[in-house]
Amino acid sequence: MSSSFHVLLYYKYVPIPEPESFAAEHLEFCRELGLKGRVLIAGEGINGTLAGPVEATDRYRKWAAEHPLFADMDFKIDEEEWVPFKRLSVRPRKEIVTLGAGDDFDLEKETGEYLSPEEWKRTIEEEDVVLFDVRNDYESAVGRFKNAITPQIETFRELPEALKDYEHLKDKKVLMYCTGGIRCEKASALFRREGFKEVYQLEGGIVTYGKTLGPEHWEGECFVFDERMTVPVGGEEAPPPIAVCAHTGKEGAELINCLDDDCHRLFLVNKEALAENPDREYCPGCLSKKAPAVQT
Ligand SMILES: [Zn+2]
Repeated sequence: MSSSFHVLLYYKYVPIPEPESFAAEHLEFCRELGLKGRVLIAGEGINGTLAGPVEATDRYRKWAAEHPLFADMDFKIDEEEWVPFKRLSVRPRKEIVTLGAGDDFDLEKETGEYLSPEEWKRTIEEEDVVLFDVRNDYESAVGRFKNAITPQIETFRELPEALKDYEHLKDKKVLMYCTGGIRCEKASALFRREGFKEVYQLEGGIVTYGKTLGPEHWEGECFVFDERMTVPVGGEEAPPPIAVCAHTGKEGAELINCLDDDCHRLFLVNKEALAENPDREYCPGCLSKKAPAVQT
């Protein structure tokens, strides 16, 4: 089977001088290559997911390999038969990942220790550890490492506050993970600053783990920030979906955005449950607020 498109996922924390003008030039470059997707550029580095015909993504990777700042940047590559983005956006930002508290980390010194996929697997099999999912609630709801702690946060900015519920774990060996590794670089620094003693992060995230070792210790799928919404973990042996409807608990649920204009959060709903009651297009929180108004 030949696929004609690649989806790239990549990041690198590296000082980028004049991120605004860099972003403007980079937008032009990506446009010329015919790529679609989203790239964030900040003084602290680059974070992107881009897709296009294989020749175009190859040319992009060649550009990176020859660039003094990005030569060793790691690309996660998915083969697809379509391009799961409608548009191209390349933007300058204050940070490539915003944690809200303490984005002034000196990551070289403060980030947690890395575990390769093999080390990760061995450690969770042989040692008494806590697995910690630093992603958002709608991401862990569709798939996660078995027995992982999954904080109920809607954005990464909520993690510092949510961490207060986990102070009892400060003396445990904490193994954290995210999609591709970028969030863990800051989250692990935060954990350490907050007094967690042994903090490790999965190098290359879930994506690299699945490609390297398959789905062992994983359940469900992996959420991605593009039109695919989820991707299987571990190729041919990928485990089945685990998502359940937030309203009914039924299996076979899909992520949708809450209909409420002030909410729009992603949550899981079963299509039949939605057909039975169209109000289920509101998330449980918004639906419960909505109910009294309907009766009057
Ligand atoms: Zn809602």
